[in-house]
Amino acid sequence: MKSEIVELRKLIDGATSIAIVAHERPDGDAIGSLIALTLSLQNAGKQVTSILADGVPNRFRFLPGSDGVQGTFPTDCNLLIALDCSDVERTGFESKDLPRSVDINIDHHPTNTHFGLVNVVDPHAAATAEILFELADPLGLEIDSCIATNLLAGLVTDTIGFRTTNVTPKMLQVVARLIELGAPLAEIYELTLNRRSVIAARYWGCGLSRLEQEDGLVWTSLTLEDRQHVGYSGKDDADLINLLSTIDGAEVTVIFVEQPGGTVKVSWRSRADLNIAPLAEAFGGGGHHQAAGAMIDGDLEDVSKRVISATRAIFESDSGMSR
Ligand code: 5GP
Ligand code: MN
Repeated sequence: MKSEIVELRKLIDGATSIAIVAHERPDGDAIGSLIALTLSLQNAGKQVTSILADGVPNRFRFLPGSDGVQGTFPTDCNLLIALDCSDVERTGFESKDLPRSVDINIDHHPTNTHFGLVNVVDPHAAATAEILFELADPLGLEIDSCIATNLLAGLVTDTIGFRTTNVTPKMLQVVARLIELGAPLAEIYELTLNRRSVIAARYWGCGLSRLEQEDGLVWTSLTLEDRQHVGYSGKDDADLINLLSTIDGAEVTVIFVEQPGGTVKVSWRSRADLNIAPLAEAFGGGGHHQAAGAMIDGDLEDVSKRVISATRAIFESDSGMSR
């Protein structure tokens, strides 16, 4: 990590216009990390633009600095940083639409492809936000209460409220420090994990009405028609996957979310000792041992058949998957 930090400092010191991008369909870690690094570099006197291909969803708009996030790159950018992206496609932009190739890649996914000029990838970190906290001091960046709030939002959401197996004493010490710096834990927890709209609850109802279960496998789907029917404006599962994964006996949970244009977003969650990241990778996606996803071409029925049969196989064979 030491030599990367020297490289990072050099690149950042030499840059006048910095663009930072995080992943498409952004979650709390993508958004919190993006805003935190943007604010801290701006406070250090840099010109910084933060970009999300899909913008900031409503429920993260309470984060200080979220109104500064844009949808397009500045033309004059001379340093490009990617956060929480395991590969360059995860930015949601085609390589030809990026202003330059990625200079700095900071991420915690074990499936990261090291696509940057400098790569700071720590799969042991619970969130990209944790890596940014560790980098602040060596990079000479200050963490004020706004930055701490964004970093804590990343940690709270990526660990689903500190209940994933990658929560460590060290990470919880970072959490304690962020609270000391002014981050409101209870408010962040409530707004990011605990509160949802009545429309999202109705959308859950559509998925729950079709719930399937077979041995340790629990799955369901959400369709374009469901979203139209209840008036849900997102393209995601409204976090229904996290509810499904609480079902007794669910070792692996899968959700299929139909997308416009003949693709399906698949999300997997697994219980502690079953690594589902290689399965997501085999379908062109990526992620972590316990939480992974992929965007797969095909109609809902065809994709769910293929994915369920491949997922079922991990119960029948230990090979390739660590149990
Ligand atoms: P979710 O299923 O909640 O969208 O994501 C779970 C995990 O899988 C996250 O760590 C996310 O970054 C990763 N993930 C989800 N979809 C994709 C994808 O299409 N490609 C890659 N590389 N990773 C994904
Ligand atoms: Mn993350």
